[in-house]
Amino acid sequence: MSNEQENNDGYPAVPTNLEKLAGFATRCACGKIHSIDIQKFGIGEGAIGHVGELANSLITVKKAGLVADAITLSVAGHDVQERLQSSGFEVTLCVVPDGEGGRPHATYETVLDVERQLHQTDFIVAVGSGTINDLGKLASYRLGIPYLVVATAPSMNGYTSAIAAIMKDGLKQTVDCHQPVAVIADIDILKRAPAHLVQAGLGDLESKPVSTADFMLSSLLRGTYYCPVPGQVVAEAEARAAACAADLAHGDIHAIRVLTEALLLSGCSMKLAGSSSPASGGEHLISHYWDMTAQNENRVEGFHGAQVGVATIVTATLYEYLRQLSPDSIDIDTLVSTRLSAADERRAVIKRHGVFGELAADEMQQKRLDDDAYRFELEYVKSHWDDIWKSLSMLKSAAEIRAVLQAAQCPVTVEALGLSDAQLKYSFLHAREIRGRFTVLDFAADLGVHGNAAAQVLSDSHCLSGNGKEL
Ligand SMILES: [Zn+2]
Ligand SMILES: [Zn+2]
Repeated sequence: MSNEQENNDGYPAVPTNLEKLAGFATRCACGKIHSIDIQKFGIGEGAIGHVGELANSLITVKKAGLVADAITLSVAGHDVQERLQSSGFEVTLCVVPDGEGGRPHATYETVLDVERQLHQTDFIVAVGSGTINDLGKLASYRLGIPYLVVATAPSMNGYTSAIAAIMKDGLKQTVDCHQPVAVIADIDILKRAPAHLVQAGLGDLESKPVSTADFMLSSLLRGTYYCPVPGQVVAEAEARAAACAADLAHGDIHAIRVLTEALLLSGCSMKLAGSSSPASGGEHLISHYWDMTAQNENRVEGFHGAQVGVATIVTATLYEYLRQLSPDSIDIDTLVSTRLSAADERRAVIKRHGVFGELAADEMQQKRLDDDAYRFELEYVKSHWDDIWKSLSMLKSAAEIRAVLQAAQCPVTVEALGLSDAQLKYSFLHAREIRGRFTVLDFAADLGVHGNAAAQVLSDSHCLSGNGKEL
């Protein structure tokens, strides 16, 4: 256990630097033991040179399975393979084939394929970013062997998390697994990552102030778990990364390092919380919804963080819309008596979501309140309106988020993501149905303003393509 001092409010102080976080554990006033299972971080220019030594210091067995795709294999995979071999490891290569859009996708079938190819190895090293990390992490977890990751792009926060995002049965699912034992982030490699991947990393990171607000809101209205500690780990790093957004646009090495560290801390914050909640709110549901509907709409899935960045501007705007409502306008009797019955809501969700309709209906069921509980929630909201907004002080304004993303030349409209205004509106209204987690999208629905707010929120978000005709 740590001897870190406690903050005034009784919560333990948790390191905000990665080296000190490695192997960290502390008991917390929230009732949880917050812990990080990562033993080592290798971050810096030339860090890849230490991969063999690092693996030897953590792992005594000698058969390594290396997961990469065609691009990451040439960027760093062959290098990692040679270094592991010269450190005494036997390496089995698993090159994940490209799918639609000329890149691999994290599907359940692909996880099974990786497992089949690497089931005789003693540990897995993934060399890649989002998809390759999800595949390597989940396959190693299911095989019950340790996991190491060599990052090739600062494109998302999943390197250090203990979850993987996988498409299964048409639904984008967040599956519990384990953290890597070591993370290698060679800044020389990361600075050469394509600009759109760096921009995606910033987009994923910029969701934090808004997803943390959802984490808090759910706790206030639905009594779910909340602890401030996970958010504190990443708050300052997120602000530092936002401050150097403009430098990211031209590949500044310091800015790349700051972004990388913030993303690694963000992944750690999810492990500390024991769920993705601090880093995945309504904006992530919108992005996941775009992924889930991609195939049917003949689109290729976009980059996670790029989508999340745009969706975050939208949910931040929704918070601002709700903030200016008057609690006196909440007509509890009408809201309770006119909402859809559970059976009608289930039928509507099933009809709306096609192949994943039943699964979505089950998810919605998880956050459906009975009439008494719904009435109680509305009464609480009405009588604690100002307190609720005070508790959401971590929110960043939509304008500020947009400015940060624009400074790094990240997409800030659906058009830049290859999506239409109608697709944005539909996801704004219905993405909440794909997951049982309560977010600001559900808050708007519970207040009975979700549908009516759509046109104004989307217009105020400035995320529409510009013509707005489809709305
Ligand atoms: Zn805690
Ligand atoms: Zn994310």
